Amino acid sequence: MAVPFRRTSKTAKRLRRGHFKLHVTGMVACPHCGALIQAHHVCPECGYYNGKDVLHLSKEKGEPAKKK
Ligand SMILES: [Zn+2]
Repeated sequence: MAVPFRRTSKTAKRLRRGHFKLHVTGMVACPHCGALIQAHHVCPECGYYNGKDVLHLSKEKGEPAKKK
């Protein structure tokens, strides 16, 4: 089995890991209100999906329903 010729230094290890980062995927701007939402989900800000008001949040004027 091949063995590393040299131990990877702390600096080399840290420089490599400096590029590791978490990133949020599947987020798009709501076409109705422009809020950042999950793709293919009802917008929790305005309650629209596919151009239709499916949660009717504007009439209630309350906090958005947390149901999916
Ligand atoms: Zn929206």
